[in-house]
Amino acid sequence: METYSNKEQIKDDLSRLREWSLTFTRDYGRLPAYHIQTFGCQQNDHDSEIAAGILEEAGLVPALELESSDLVLFNTCSVRANADDRFFGHVGRLKPMKQDGRPIIGVFGCMMEQLIHRDTILTSFPFVDFLLGAGAMEVLPAAILDTLEASSRKKKTLDLTKRDRDAFAEEMPVRRTRNHRALVTIMTGCNNFCSYCIVPYTRGREKSRPFEDILEEVRRAVDGGAAEIMLLGQNVNSYGNDMRRRGEESPGFPRLLEEVAQVPSLELVRYMTSHPKDLSDELIRVIGTSPKVEPHIHLPLQSGSDRILEKMNRRYTADHYLGLVRKLRDSRPGMTVTTDLIVGYPGETEEDFQATLWLMEEARFDAAFTFIYSPRTGTPAAELYDSEERDMIQERFERLVNLQNRLSLESNQKIIGKEVDVLLDGPSRRDPDIFSGRTRDDRLVNVSFPSMTSLQADPPDKNALIGQYVPVLIEKAGSFSLEGRLDKKMDTQDGADI
Ligand code: SF4
Repeated sequence: METYSNKEQIKDDLSRLREWSLTFTRDYGRLPAYHIQTFGCQQNDHDSEIAAGILEEAGLVPALELESSDLVLFNTCSVRANADDRFFGHVGRLKPMKQDGRPIIGVFGCMMEQLIHRDTILTSFPFVDFLLGAGAMEVLPAAILDTLEASSRKKKTLDLTKRDRDAFAEEMPVRRTRNHRALVTIMTGCNNFCSYCIVPYTRGREKSRPFEDILEEVRRAVDGGAAEIMLLGQNVNSYGNDMRRRGEESPGFPRLLEEVAQVPSLELVRYMTSHPKDLSDELIRVIGTSPKVEPHIHLPLQSGSDRILEKMNRRYTADHYLGLVRKLRDSRPGMTVTTDLIVGYPGETEEDFQATLWLMEEARFDAAFTFIYSPRTGTPAAELYDSEERDMIQERFERLVNLQNRLSLESNQKIIGKEVDVLLDGPSRRDPDIFSGRTRDDRLVNVSFPSMTSLQADPPDKNALIGQYVPVLIEKAGSFSLEGRLDKKMDTQDGADI
């Protein structure tokens, strides 16, 4: 297997790609443009940020639209069947666009770690130029260069998914989607093998990133304007275990979280995802006593039935889970708890489902990501899937969603009339005059600025507030978001008084 860990080699590839960009600019009178379509989780979002960083370092620019791209990348997800289907739909639509070898099309991410999907691309979408494995961003410059070289010869899709490497891709340039919310990977892979999940087969075993490298990236991100850091890993609670198993020294996740929270000028540290079986009392202490650690936890439950939890290989009971929620809420009064729930795991009975509903009421989740079980080829649970039960599962799903919508609404209603800090992300999708953002406890808020535009002839630039925490008076609550308005006079960065 080719190892792709030589940093000099990566630098060399980048500089050769830069030369290609210069030649392209001379030939076409414009800079080469790229487009990245990302499916799936925040880890994928972050891999796409690294891909964008690499491409911009090499002289490419983001395309204004897909049709004007010279390079199109797809970052795929294989956690749910609908992401697979959407990806194939998108890639198929590129075929008529491809002329004289442009755009170059590359596919990477979790789907490319599965032979079945690679074979589909190789046989049904031969106009795709190259395939890369999940998170293999350091191979990207070489893949583009290999494609350019191959384009003068007989063409076939280059399968580079077996190129392995040692380096954490975060050592590559990063083009952050939002500078004020920086994603920082602390580990990759997963050792847990939950019976429904494809991730250990696509992302491999757990590998922790060195402690100092993480802190260094956090400091750089904060210097670059990050108010919030999101520490990413499939199971952050097992951070460092792999190093300690190899006899290397490594502090665990509680210590990492504590250290990151102390980085000067950082407002808040978030983390995702936390496996309940590895949530220690020490971590609960850190969450409870560090004001800069978010007053929120995402703690996937999946099912409230011990029988189903065992079949899922989750290695905790409903009782243990509920005990954790109580300890967390005691340690940090008012903190929010969100979760993931799967309905219709193979063999789930009405009694199992009722246990999930009961636990949801007991835990009073503030929000939940709810899913109908989706069989993933290669996982143990997929063998047990019975598609005949689809109607019954759909009916259960609706009951579960209705319950969670009520719980989420009740949680959000509790903060009507309160002033909360909201980190503003920018104009909302529906109305450019309404900005969206998130509270420290991770609630989505749509913020209006009622008086400032109507009373001032020359209104201040609201965009100056993007990336800042602002005080917001909450006026309305729904199940998925809150509505509020900027609460008091405050200064923008350029000194305008709002
Ligand atoms: S903990 Fe379970 S659900 Fe999460 S990534 Fe690992 S195997 Fe998948």
